[in-house]
Amino acid sequence: MRDEYDAVIVGSGPNGLAAAITLARAGCSVLVCEANAAIGGGARSAELTLPGFVHDICSAVHPLAAGSPFFRALPLERFGLEWIQPEIPLAHPLDDGTAACLYRDVDFTAEQLRGDSSAYRRLMKPLARNWEKLANEFLQPMLHLPRHPMALARFGIPALCPANSLAKILFKHEAAQALFAGIAAHSFLPLESIASSAFGLVLGMAGHAVGWPIPRGGSQGIANALANYLRELGGKIEANHRVENLDDLPKSRAVLLDVSVWEFLHIARGQLPSAYRRRLESFRHAPGIFKIDYALSEPIPWKAEACRSAGTIHLGATMDEMAAAERDVARGKIPERPFVLVAQQSVFDETRAPRGQHTLWVYCHVPLNCGADMTDRIESQIERFATGFRDCILSRHKTRAADLEKSNPNLTGGDINGGAANLMQLIARPILSPTPYRTPMKGIYLCSSSTPPGGGVHGMCGYHAARVALHDCFSTRKP
Ligand SMILES: Cc1cc2nc3c(=O)[nH]c(=O)nc-3n(C[C@H](O)[C@H](O)[C@H](O)COP(=O)(O)OP(=O)(O)OC[C@H]3O[C@@H](n4cnc5c(N)ncnc54)[C@H](O)[C@@H]3O)c2cc1C
Repeated sequence: MRDEYDAVIVGSGPNGLAAAITLARAGCSVLVCEANAAIGGGARSAELTLPGFVHDICSAVHPLAAGSPFFRALPLERFGLEWIQPEIPLAHPLDDGTAACLYRDVDFTAEQLRGDSSAYRRLMKPLARNWEKLANEFLQPMLHLPRHPMALARFGIPALCPANSLAKILFKHEAAQALFAGIAAHSFLPLESIASSAFGLVLGMAGHAVGWPIPRGGSQGIANALANYLRELGGKIEANHRVENLDDLPKSRAVLLDVSVWEFLHIARGQLPSAYRRRLESFRHAPGIFKIDYALSEPIPWKAEACRSAGTIHLGATMDEMAAAERDVARGKIPERPFVLVAQQSVFDETRAPRGQHTLWVYCHVPLNCGADMTDRIESQIERFATGFRDCILSRHKTRAADLEKSNPNLTGGDINGGAANLMQLIARPILSPTPYRTPMKGIYLCSSSTPPGGGVHGMCGYHAARVALHDCFSTRKP
């Protein structure tokens, strides 16, 4: 029987669309099958609370998309993607009413961190200057020959450190320690873990190099721009098409799966060789999240002035408090004072809410599969830094960790990153190989965030997987 398509992609998340675009640009005919009615996976937006309030269902803030070497090579602006840079990328309020901030400018950021200015400058300046070189190095499988070994060593040595040790060695004062620890906590790792600094360094340097921008109109704008570009290249997308079994797909030479390791085990059903299957079964989840989307009657009354101009705000005050919260989560306990991540997109993007009113995107880390309602704990953290916050609430939309997978089979148990990003799973994601996208099944590739470089909206997993598929199945076509 003739192939219906050169390649079929399962899942229209950023990585699925990136894989489809890479293949279509090489001249392949591609079909994307998406389980959901809406395309985009982790880059979707919808009116979750009240009419006129547009919320980001998953991702909100996009240093990795703005800095992605692959996305930067695509004409996404032509397809409506517009980045908005909040005046301050990140603020971290402290209990004395001030806030430590990450500004675009490294020197200005350092100057504000009194007593730690030189240390901050020494750490971040060379990294931010080398963003392009470094992004190409760490946004691919760890097993590769580095093209920029010096720059990579300068990043890799501190990146391997536990975040709390690195912050204590480098910084004397609470403000700088807390700012760095809050960024490192995006890793979902206890701050005492090896390599928990990596996220602090990557997201910190990205903040200086490319900002922590938001897309005008919502994160759906990223998915729509990718999808519309794919359609211009001749690619097809079929929504409401959940793939339950690999045998049900239209015939093609290559199949790229933008699905988690656990969804792969489900849809491959008994077809995987046992050693590979056992390896996937031993792959570990990250903890989960509890998320609330708010419709607000007015902007949040932050005590620290800087928080009113920041796109993202981290609530956890001190490094010790955040370390305790992340430790609890890793041990399966619900933290009394969770580390809370906040994005206030409508302060910078008037399309997100009716005039004068606002949206708010908030989540905290919780144990995997946790069914607890964290609303009181989250709102106490916000009130601590913004007295009167509760009076601004018009409506809430809550998502428990255990419910996240209802809108995306990749989010089992509330794990938003396709598996833990500990050192072992950064190196072997999901297997130890320079091409971990290839599976033992001929023509079947994994391309989701369960492969390198892992979680985040950047499309690099999809791009690299598609290049491997092109090499194996379409050797005459060039990416
Ligand atoms: C609440 C939340 C907040 C986040 N915040 C940020 C952020 O601010 N910035 C950031 O960079 N990242 C953030 N992330 C992470 C980011 O969204 C993901 O890492 C990224 O979307 C992963 O992309 P992906 O293409 O691998 O998978 P996904 O985006 O999960 O897409 C996978 C797609 O495949 C579909 N699918 C799965 N199984 C099947 C099947 N069997 N058949 C058909 N279709 C299937 C799913 O429906 C989905 O559309 C967040 C994630 C969540 C959930």
